[in-house]
Amino acid sequence: MVSGSDVHGTPITVRADDEGVAPQVIVDRYHSEFVEQWDALGFDWDLFTTTGTANHHAVTQDMFLRLLERGHIDKRTSNQFYDPEAERFLPDRYVEGTCPHCGYGEARGDQCENCSRTLDPIDLIQPRSRLTGATPEERPTDHFYLRLSDFAEELKEWLLSRENWRKHVLNFSLGWIEEGLHDRAITRDIEWGVEIPVDDLGPGKRIYVWFDAVIGYLSASKEWAQLNGRDEAWKDWWENPDSEHYYFIGKDNIPFHTIIWPAILLGYGGLELPTDVPANQFVTFKGGKASASRGIGTPIGEALERYEPDALRYALASNFPETADVDITEDELVRRINDELVATWGNLVNRVVSMTHRYFGGVVPEPGDNEPADVDVLTAVDAALADASDHLGAVRLRTALATLLAGAQATNQYLSELEPWKTAKTDLRRTGTTLFTALQCISGLAAGFAPYLPATSKRVLDTIGVDTSARQPAWERAEVADGTELGPAVPLFSKVEPPAEG
Ligand SMILES: [Zn+2]
Repeated sequence: MVSGSDVHGTPITVRADDEGVAPQVIVDRYHSEFVEQWDALGFDWDLFTTTGTANHHAVTQDMFLRLLERGHIDKRTSNQFYDPEAERFLPDRYVEGTCPHCGYGEARGDQCENCSRTLDPIDLIQPRSRLTGATPEERPTDHFYLRLSDFAEELKEWLLSRENWRKHVLNFSLGWIEEGLHDRAITRDIEWGVEIPVDDLGPGKRIYVWFDAVIGYLSASKEWAQLNGRDEAWKDWWENPDSEHYYFIGKDNIPFHTIIWPAILLGYGGLELPTDVPANQFVTFKGGKASASRGIGTPIGEALERYEPDALRYALASNFPETADVDITEDELVRRINDELVATWGNLVNRVVSMTHRYFGGVVPEPGDNEPADVDVLTAVDAALADASDHLGAVRLRTALATLLAGAQATNQYLSELEPWKTAKTDLRRTGTTLFTALQCISGLAAGFAPYLPATSKRVLDTIGVDTSARQPAWERAEVADGTELGPAVPLFSKVEPPAEG
């Protein structure tokens, strides 16, 4: 699991210009903020790097040269916007205007935030310079182009062979090809970015971010291999037809991962294409698109002040916008946490561990004879684990989570029926069997919840004596042996207060 911050492109330089600082200052600030938040949220990367490394620059230049050598990159002269007041070319986000596709008035030169279409600044209606507000004029300039049209047929065939992709991802990608794949400039008149490894264009030009950023997946894999002292280990994934590659992105990034990156990989040759690109749709807030740059929505850092990390992960995962945009409200987050996570899973663990302490001194009791209810509940939990595994494999993360929660509900239902707190007065052995069985269920469910609730799942497994020393808990129900001494009964989650009125 590798990724990183992409550090090039006009989003960085525009902000640096606004603040009057060097682009690297912006890069360092955001990268450390991302890393802090991933840590706080319990993200477990093999490597989270940046595209600012010497390794990434070398890998990008190698890919550029191979594609150039194979004729998939060529040099062309085109008209680009130029700001006569600032006396410079205006790549991408240095131009804003009206989207030619949807009429949105604040479209940026590289992409419309409203309709997600990628744009060429020259297509904008009523363009204006982000630097001076001037109306830019067109001037000729030389750039390298990626000949995307070379790959149209191959990409279409490949996309049509994809099974189980999210419909919106496949439709968007095929639609792009149907419209005709346009060759795209992959260099810019800009001083910030990977240096072009041939000296054909003169000074003041760089490889642009949308060519180099996607190469970050490969360069991060190579960096990971080097850091682990096995320089060639990246080949086990990238040159191995049995490997599987999943790209977790938002829908505004679809064409870069289903068209452009596969085209670069095909042009380079010998490297594996994506297995799946399960792009999420957007999270919205009161109907508006969440956007850090526009200050809409709740930043992760702020949410982490209000909610425990696993609780926040649960509430968000229950609402992942897998097939449609999802509006997230504080009420919804609170409902998911209080009514589902605390009431069902947290409560189950707490009452079973508490009762084991109350009736058996905190030692897992020896079970007596099984009744059908004991067998049934364990079968239900094992089935939930198997089903959740299938759903995760198909990147149906919401369904997998709901399946596991249903397993916890089934276990609560089992306790309500068997009433171990009542049988404790009449048939303590029966109470022992019930609690023993419920502890096995909890063991299976904690393993299942671990990808969603890493910190608290580990706590549950530690409490019931299951070994958690492996970095990833096994996807199975570990046996909780009788005689095991349980840890103390500490509530897993706290209820959260509903948001204030208004
Ligand atoms: Zn638009």
